[in-house]
Amino acid sequence: MCAMANAILKNSCEGIVDAVYKLYKGDFQVSRDTYAFVLQGCARADSLIRGKTAHTHIIKTGFGEDKFLGNHLLNMYAKCDNIVDARQVFDKMPQRNVVSWTALIAGCVHTGYAEEALKLFEQMQLEGVRANDFTLSSVINACSSLGNLEMGKCAHGDVRKAGFESNLVVGSALVDMYAKCGSLKDARDVFDKMPERDVVSWTSLIAGYAENGCGEEALDLFVKVLEEGLKLDQFTFASVLRVCSRMACLVQGKQVHGYIIKTGFESNSVMGSALIDMYTKCGDTDHALIVFNKISEQNVVSWTTLIAGYAQHGLSKEALQLFEKMVGAGIEPNDITFVAVLNACCHVGLVNEGCHYFDSMTSKYGINPTEQHYTCMVNLLGRAGCLSEAEKIINKNQIKPIGAMWGALLSACRTHGNTELAKHAADRLLELKHEVATTYVALSNVYAADGRWDDVAKVRNLMKQRGVKKQPGCSWIEIKGCMHAFLVGDRGHPQHEQIYAMLEKLIGRMKDAGYEPNTNLVLHDVEEEQKEILLSYHSEKLAIAFGLMSTIPGKTIRVLKNLRVCIDCHNAIKFVSKIVDREIIVRDTNRFHHFKDGSCSCNDYW
Ligand code: ZN
Ligand code: ZN
Repeated sequence: MCAMANAILKNSCEGIVDAVYKLYKGDFQVSRDTYAFVLQGCARADSLIRGKTAHTHIIKTGFGEDKFLGNHLLNMYAKCDNIVDARQVFDKMPQRNVVSWTALIAGCVHTGYAEEALKLFEQMQLEGVRANDFTLSSVINACSSLGNLEMGKCAHGDVRKAGFESNLVVGSALVDMYAKCGSLKDARDVFDKMPERDVVSWTSLIAGYAENGCGEEALDLFVKVLEEGLKLDQFTFASVLRVCSRMACLVQGKQVHGYIIKTGFESNSVMGSALIDMYTKCGDTDHALIVFNKISEQNVVSWTTLIAGYAQHGLSKEALQLFEKMVGAGIEPNDITFVAVLNACCHVGLVNEGCHYFDSMTSKYGINPTEQHYTCMVNLLGRAGCLSEAEKIINKNQIKPIGAMWGALLSACRTHGNTELAKHAADRLLELKHEVATTYVALSNVYAADGRWDDVAKVRNLMKQRGVKKQPGCSWIEIKGCMHAFLVGDRGHPQHEQIYAMLEKLIGRMKDAGYEPNTNLVLHDVEEEQKEILLSYHSEKLAIAFGLMSTIPGKTIRVLKNLRVCIDCHNAIKFVSKIVDREIIVRDTNRFHHFKDGSCSCNDYW
């Protein structure tokens, strides 16, 4: 009987689980090996209930003290995420070996008790038990989830001593740990030394580069992993797509999309949402919609990603229509959906609609507004000029005001010229130490617009005294799959002479068409002419000039900017779009601006 049962048991997890019941009912004499198979099957099938039944049976039949079965029990509980019972089995074991320790440590890491795992590891070493490759990779995973680089380095030392450096699982864990702790050089070192690599190690390194802002390295590695012919998983694609989104690399993003189609992940909702995000962030809402329609089961994430994308492009009407369609399709919105919806209202100043949706969150959907929703409301009311209502939201809301709320109020004060409230908002921001440089600059701009040059000087002195440095403006443009970056007044580009010549020619034509540089917002102690030059060389202007000379007439220009576009540049780009008859899309930190035929999709509302 047992031989036959074993044969069935070996075949599949379900077979095991079913067979175990037959065995109990038939009251057969069950061997130790059979129990081991049963427990392995339960672990693999993640079936805690059946595992517990087996445990009871094991105790009844007198195998309770068995070391061999003890390890299997421990492993079953750990794999089924029942760390309490796993610990109990562990504590009762008369003898523990490296397998027992490792099962418990791995279980702790897996269930989120990383600190506990490290303590256990320490205890294990004190008891003189030598770690194996699985123990060490679990310990490294624990360091990685705690972001504890120091402990991770210690574990790396243990790996070296134990001679597991060329082990695939351990190596992958090390790459992942270093990448997650932001120590990319170490991650790369380990990666380069690995005799063989799997998808996990490639993905960890790509994700590490992606999360730490090294987009080019991430894309480079992605090309290499494709050459290696490894079968990639969704995590790799998701990381690479995030890079493309952040860097607005539409060409690369489309290539990645091509690979995703080949792997058949395209209709998957997770991949689909990542693609929608990439396309909207790269300024291509048409393709985002195509991807959305191809998703086999659109869920709240895919809907929300598309709504958020439309909102960012100022396509508010479409975004709100989508929201209604989603609700109509029976999909419950979540808190993130509402951030997108409120943003849609905000970008075009739909105050009534915004208030309506904000109220419906609690009344209709039972969602409590978070800081983000309140910030959206401050933004919406502030931009529309309802400054005191906006301030009321900050003071009266249920949660502690965060910097972003005061920041939204400050920028609204700048738009609507309320210097006193601006000063108040700036003070709160500085108390919170929120985006210090931006706050100072915004405040000095409010004073400058009001002609209060003494106050401007005071703010500037304060900045100097406190050693606050302005973040330099930077813009990126992708030409033929290659990213070009420009700083303010940059002359580092190999074609800078042509770029500046192009810019001067353009500005001449713009002035003929009625453009007047707005020098109000630059620091006042520069001579008028110099101010004008400073403005003309803001990074987005350089990027656009380069884009115009590097692409064929009529082609859309897409630029990414790390700060908010200034009033003068915004105005200038409107003129450019008309003069050269091209669509220019600028993504700043706040939203997308589609410049076309002398006007912008934001209706000067940003
Ligand atoms: Zn500018
Ligand atoms: Zn605009």
